[in-house]
Amino acid sequence: MTPKGPGKGKGRGQEASGGGGGMGGGRALGPGGQCICPQCGEKVTHERGVPCFDVKCPKCGTYMTRE
Ligand SMILES: [Zn+2]
Repeated sequence: MTPKGPGKGKGRGQEASGGGGGMGGGRALGPGGQCICPQCGEKVTHERGVPCFDVKCPKCGTYMTRE
């Protein structure tokens, strides 16, 4: 006598699809840049952490901009 047991469930393979794609974006403008004065064209070395538009031109006092 062979008891008819219920069929075993289909073994589901666990899908290991880990989306660990690292986004290498967000690259800030590295140091070593320069700020330029839109007024007189004076260039100063851009200080890290100090946005150019926060720096005044040493010559004419105009706020600089990123070159
Ligand atoms: Zn200037």
